Amino acid sequence: MAKRDYYEILGVSKGATAAEIKKAYRKKAIEFHPDKNPDDKTAEAKFKEAAEAYEILSDADKKARYDQFGHQAFENGGGGGFGGGGMNMDDIFSQFGDIFGGGGFGGGFSGFGGGGQRRVKGSNLRIRVKLTLEEIANGVEKKIKVKRKVQAPGTTYKTCSTCNGSGQVTRIANTILGRMQTSAPCNVCGGAGQTIDKKPADADAQGLKVAEETVSIKIPAGVVDGMQLKVSSKGNEAPGNGISGDLIVVIEEEQHEKLQREGDNLHYDLYISYPDAVLGTSKEIDTVTGKVRIKVEAGVQSGKILRLRGKGIPSINGYGKGDLLVHVNVWTPKTLNKQQKEFFESMQNDEHFEPKPESSDKSFFEKVKDMFS
Ligand SMILES: [Zn+2]
Repeated sequence: MAKRDYYEILGVSKGATAAEIKKAYRKKAIEFHPDKNPDDKTAEAKFKEAAEAYEILSDADKKARYDQFGHQAFENGGGGGFGGGGMNMDDIFSQFGDIFGGGGFGGGFSGFGGGGQRRVKGSNLRIRVKLTLEEIANGVEKKIKVKRKVQAPGTTYKTCSTCNGSGQVTRIANTILGRMQTSAPCNVCGGAGQTIDKKPADADAQGLKVAEETVSIKIPAGVVDGMQLKVSSKGNEAPGNGISGDLIVVIEEEQHEKLQREGDNLHYDLYISYPDAVLGTSKEIDTVTGKVRIKVEAGVQSGKILRLRGKGIPSINGYGKGDLLVHVNVWTPKTLNKQQKEFFESMQNDEHFEPKPESSDKSFFEKVKDMFS
């Protein structure tokens, strides 16, 4: 299903300030708040949709990625269990509770879906994954060892005596929407409705302990250095019936020995000898899918750019591939033997060697202009 544009969801322009985005989100959140729209699935969906849009647009880093890559920036490929999914109500309140603060909701929220018990979420984990340019170009599945908190075997839970397992402490409050019942999470059990009964000696206060686990991460082709991918539920576990946090994978791109990346395009510096430039040659060059042989025409000018279409990096948005731009550099020898020196001296004043650039031998600046047009 195609996702709506985040700006459109909040009803703001792309140039909206952080304050305008916050204000717009608050308006939507109040309009579709479940307390105001009980048992209205459409309102709940809109409430979640607005929260998801706000999660991205309120974070400068995520917003920049969204502006550049659209929804693709957060839900890559789908194969590896990334992103997608959207947010659940607990996420929304744990992340954006402050947005309602002072606005009449009084800081407390009633439960959803009739339960009222709040599922505690484990914290997120962040790891950095180094990728070669070849791995980025082709996509890769990485098996990464992650140290995460898991529920210690032998931990048992009992119903919280303060809230009798509801996880909520209820009160009546006057709000901008009128008089309504609000509930705050129980501060003894943190809203989980459970407290620890027994736990093994090696568990922490929450009955968790650190365990090493190998997580398989499918990384789609075209990722960019600094991009973050989310593996749902592979962060720290939560105690009791809580839900696990997420594993945030931060992409790090290793410098390639021969290839320079610029967006989806790649650049390669090819050095050829003076005789090769005069007589023509063929050269083997590195690409992200192996070596290829390219032909260099006789009479090639230094600075010429040969474009190998589709030999760059696939677009993360799935729109085609970049190109590989091969920059021809004619290498001039610094020393010559006697015979070579005599040859070049005899040619030095030969009219045939006078530069006579044709319109097709564009200057460096014109080539750069072409490349970006
Ligand atoms: Zn409690």
